[in-house]
Amino acid sequence: MKLSEYFLPTLREDPAEAEAVSHRLMLRAGMIRKLASGIYSWLPMGLRTLRRVENIVREEMDRAGALEVLLPLVQPAELWKETGRWDNFGKELLRFKDRKEHDFCLGPTHEEVITDLVRREVRSYRDLPLILYQIAPKFRDEIRPRFGVMRAREFLMKDAYSFDADEEGLNRSYEAMYEAYQRIFSRCGLRFRAVLADTGAIGGSESHEFMVLAETGEDRLALCEACGYAANVELAESKKEFSYPEEKERPLEKVATPGVKSVEEVAAFLGVPPSKLVKTLLFRAGGEVVAVLIRGDLELNEVKLRNLLGVPEVEMADAETVKRVTGAPVGFAGPVALSGVRILADLSVRGLRNFVTGANEADAHLVNVNYGRDFPEPEFYDLRVVSEGDPCPRCGRPLAVTRGIEVGHIFKLGTKYSEAMRATFLDREGKERPLVMGCYGIGIGRTVAAAIEQNHDHAGIIFPREIAPFEALILTLGPEAELMEISERIYHTLNSSGVETLWDDRDERPGVKFKDADLIGIPFQIIVGRRFKETGRVEVKERSTGQREDLLPEEVVKRLQGSA
Ligand code: ATP
Ligand code: MG
Repeated sequence: MKLSEYFLPTLREDPAEAEAVSHRLMLRAGMIRKLASGIYSWLPMGLRTLRRVENIVREEMDRAGALEVLLPLVQPAELWKETGRWDNFGKELLRFKDRKEHDFCLGPTHEEVITDLVRREVRSYRDLPLILYQIAPKFRDEIRPRFGVMRAREFLMKDAYSFDADEEGLNRSYEAMYEAYQRIFSRCGLRFRAVLADTGAIGGSESHEFMVLAETGEDRLALCEACGYAANVELAESKKEFSYPEEKERPLEKVATPGVKSVEEVAAFLGVPPSKLVKTLLFRAGGEVVAVLIRGDLELNEVKLRNLLGVPEVEMADAETVKRVTGAPVGFAGPVALSGVRILADLSVRGLRNFVTGANEADAHLVNVNYGRDFPEPEFYDLRVVSEGDPCPRCGRPLAVTRGIEVGHIFKLGTKYSEAMRATFLDREGKERPLVMGCYGIGIGRTVAAAIEQNHDHAGIIFPREIAPFEALILTLGPEAELMEISERIYHTLNSSGVETLWDDRDERPGVKFKDADLIGIPFQIIVGRRFKETGRVEVKERSTGQREDLLPEEVVKRLQGSA
């Protein structure tokens, strides 16, 4: 393509609304434009990148034996009622009525639709295993769409679903998808890790997330370099044991702490370390309020709490609930004389003596609090977010905590959907049994954004070659016929040798061309300028390393093919 005929609206300035680097760069590089909150158009340069990821995903799904289908985005409510998700999915499910007043939704995921399809067509164990996939838009009415296409409301996803006769079959399908995912993200040129993941609202027994490693990621991962244990901190465990020196119980005391609320403030005010404080966190969970105690310097893991309580969601209690339960404003809750709520405690509190808590009274804290004496011994559980350096749950060596962006997620669903929707088959003995299912997603758009989060510098995007919109960009630095002719020759040779090349033939200043070139991140820049007139050579610059080489025009193809 010639840039003079292309649609590449680049922006000089950083758009104010973009918080994430990838969002900023995708807007500036003319890849996407916003239509409405969380809803984006893909422009030619962006779409080429999206398609390259999509093609890698499609090739690897096909290679793994999955079969491509295309399922409707608009789905009837009846299916969602069968699984109970019409009521349970929450507000991410966008519901509406058609002209006949029938309920529909936009598909945020397709378990119901695929299970309906398969229950009508699959009869016998002979039809199994079966893995179907699609690459199609999803709609989720995200509470806080952000970071551009990374957390959008409408987005492109690859979703696959496996159907097997038994657990063993499911394990094989899961393994095949796991391996396909490893190949996909390697081929995309990304640094990533597969981590153990929470199964969340989708349910099921085992799950892995594929995380692109990036400082800016929303997820935190606990990794053990020694034994390879890798888990989302949401469910990461640790062998850490808390033990405290013997201490005599001292008399309980109430102290005035006017306006002093946060752990840091209270610790500083009382002259004790934050580890001597016990936070009392109040949550709403399945219609009841629970109090959770955890040491002041540690972080509560809401996913562990949710799983422990067996509810779909836990939510921090609002100010009104806190006031009703404790009689005090937010910031002064404590377990002493706290009635009518279940009290749980993290293991870090077991054995702790003479600690500090809120007094359930505005501007007051209690010191020398001891469970067993001042309030009943609570139920202890592992409810803590692991921290850097905690011993690995498998081998005991120190864990590292790093950040990542979830680009893929695979689940063993088991028979959750097939039982709810009566999707069965006849086994070898002619007995009717529910299909055993797995589901496997990849955010195609999010993968593009994650690649940019991981690969950029101050000047712009640095695309991994495998997913770049073009492999080479020719910059012609002047209108002279001699420069245009040789540029055109290189352009045709490269394109006809399979190196997809864009040609900046615009009547623009060199400075503008260089800036745009670095911004859009095409892996190789071929600079045809004054030097060509003097030496007959062009300059090839590699975007990722900044390395430059002077080459004869006829050497360019070999250089670019050679570095594939
Ligand atoms: P998250 O925890 O980030 O909300 P999820 O667990 O809801 O993700 P899945 O339901 O597993 O995501 O969806 C499969 C994949 O779809 C995710 O791994 C992610 O790459 C992508 N995805 C999910 N939600 C969005 C979104 N709002 N915008 C873009 N991609 C998304
Ligand atoms: Mg989500």
